[in-house]
Amino acid sequence: MLSRPRPTIAQAARVFATLSLGFAVAVASSVTAFAQGVPVIRDAEIEALVRDYARPIFRAAGLANDGIDIVLVNDSSFNAFVTGRRMFINTGALMMAETPNEIIGVIAHEAGHLAGGHQQKLRDQLERAKTMAVIATLLGAGAIVAGATTNSRGLAGAGMGVAAGGGEMAQRSILAYQRTEEITADRSAITYLNATGQSGMGMLKTFARFQTALSLSGAQIDPYRISHPMPQERIANLQVLVKQSPNVDKLDPPALQQRHDMMRVKIAVYMGGQAAAARLMQKMRGSLAAQYGDAQSTYLYGNLPAALVKTNALIKAQPKNAYFQELRGDILMKANKPGEAAEAYAKAVSLDPARSGLLPVSLGQALMAVGTPDSLKKAIIQINNGLGRDKENSEGYRYLAQAYGELGDIPGAELATAEGHFYSGNYKDAKIFAMRAQQRMKRGEPRWIRAQDIINYKSSGKI
Ligand SMILES: [Zn+2]
Repeated sequence: MLSRPRPTIAQAARVFATLSLGFAVAVASSVTAFAQGVPVIRDAEIEALVRDYARPIFRAAGLANDGIDIVLVNDSSFNAFVTGRRMFINTGALMMAETPNEIIGVIAHEAGHLAGGHQQKLRDQLERAKTMAVIATLLGAGAIVAGATTNSRGLAGAGMGVAAGGGEMAQRSILAYQRTEEITADRSAITYLNATGQSGMGMLKTFARFQTALSLSGAQIDPYRISHPMPQERIANLQVLVKQSPNVDKLDPPALQQRHDMMRVKIAVYMGGQAAAARLMQKMRGSLAAQYGDAQSTYLYGNLPAALVKTNALIKAQPKNAYFQELRGDILMKANKPGEAAEAYAKAVSLDPARSGLLPVSLGQALMAVGTPDSLKKAIIQINNGLGRDKENSEGYRYLAQAYGELGDIPGAELATAEGHFYSGNYKDAKIFAMRAQQRMKRGEPRWIRAQDIINYKSSGKI
């Protein structure tokens, strides 16, 4: 499943529209409408794969202990960028890259910016915004590193700066990107690729793609190209470094390539639509990835019993694949069989090597749909488990609040609602719900203290 929130990708594509019905409403209205332009997307499988790509690179870059978050952006253009301790990668880049090595090259280059402390002043400002929702708001659609540099009035000021300055300001800021920083990041990237025994050919291919795109289309401008100016000289330098490496001809391990193909197909099915998915599957004909795409496509656009048969065949081929179980759970949920869905999600949770916080929340949702008091209690445990792994999953709090509500735990429901608002950047409503929750809690109990933390939070400071 590729979504935020669950359960369908159609919803994922409309993520902020959906969120605006819930927790994110105040973010969209009070800070800036740019929030609607950066649809952050969540998917356990893709997040795990991209982290697997990044882990050795971050280690080589000395960033392993910096807690760098990788955030997926639902945008079909080829783009990646870093702010503070977060690296943003567009689904478009993941889908266009034919090999893991191409994405690993991009990650290596961005890691070079992070390790080099480039644009640090701007990043410091963005870093002060603690929640994803506010980061997304600050960034704006394609604005990348926009806006926040010019004023020091804190978070609200930075947000307004982006809104007021609009595209022009964004562009000026992007063009101010130092060319020397780009060359340094390229060199660092090659160092990390060498240290991890990987080729730089993917990086070269990505950069060459931009040059070709530039000469072919006058109209379409890719933000990555704007933020990463690509003079001929820079490519030529890079080419020398890549070809000098003893790893130049190294290929990605086949298992990694297979996961990459499965990711591309998934993005194509959920984000690109049936035709785009069919084209890609045609190129991968006979592979497990094509089979995976077919099962997902049948789930989304075809019929559920057929999707289930296809997914069961996938599970037979890879019994330890957590995401095949997740797909099985998604199908069973849509088929209104929550009990069986819960079993599939439970398997997904137990098989997931990356311990994603998303899968326990899916399990919790299925248990909620079962609807007995016992399953509701289990649902709360699972959702809390998921949120413990990933506390910024604001959708998760919505389900948690609902589960508490159905069990009659009103202060629990109010605190969960407060948390959901909090992690959506909607501090005003977060405080209102935290205060309401406290009225029915014993002063000083752990939940009361958490509510007090939310009440005391200053949006320009740290919690
Ligand atoms: Zn760069």
